[in-house]
Amino acid sequence: MRRSILILTLAAFTLGVNSCSNESNKTAKESTKPKGKYYCTMHPEITSDKPGTCSRCGMDLAERDTTGK
Ligand SMILES: [Zn+2]
Repeated sequence: MRRSILILTLAAFTLGVNSCSNESNKTAKESTKPKGKYYCTMHPEITSDKPGTCSRCGMDLAERDTTGK
């Protein structure tokens, strides 16, 4: 009885960790992309070196404020 609960808990934990790490891996991968000068205000992970549109929503990319203010 105790053993099956332990296994269940372990399985749930492993599943949770797996889905969690998958998601954070994806996010980390996207956020480590070289930051372009232009980005989508809805999807900050979508960046570009030159003006254009977001590949996800088609919105015009906004220019990143590089003045430091
Ligand atoms: Zn977008």
